[in-house]
Amino acid sequence: MASIFTRIVQGEIPSYKVAENERFYAFLDINPMAPGHTLVIPKQETDYLFDIADEDYQALMLFAKRVAEGIFKAIPCKRVGVAVLGMEVPHAHIHLVPLQTEADMDFRKEKVQLSREEFERIASAIAESIQ
Ligand code: 5GP
Repeated sequence: MASIFTRIVQGEIPSYKVAENERFYAFLDINPMAPGHTLVIPKQETDYLFDIADEDYQALMLFAKRVAEGIFKAIPCKRVGVAVLGMEVPHAHIHLVPLQTEADMDFRKEKVQLSREEFERIASAIAESIQ
């Protein structure tokens, strides 16, 4: 069965898209740790990040770097944090989280609630900031 992220890539499930190319897709996390929390995924479904072939892995990381640069420009923050967990969704994904403090990267803390309009505004602002 296709992962929830494959279904997002295929447009079956809606998402707040931030960036896309032929191989990769970036969209806002629906339960963000901070406004602008973005997930970067390969369109080709692989469960575990470190099972991805070297060339695809390098290209994914470079794509994530471009997205992180866009987040940094669009969202006031000190750093963009990077994390990979994969405990919930078995489709490799990189978390990019705008950080004001170390606590913004605590996966156990209460998530930020955003309206649809806020998600849309944030996704557009990041998308426009990506070179
Ligand atoms: P992980 O697998 O890295 O432990 O966590 C999965 C992440 O995906 C969580 O941060 C969760 O909020 C996010 N997530 C799960 N389902 C969806 C979804 O349907 N849409 C979006 N945008 N994010 C999701």
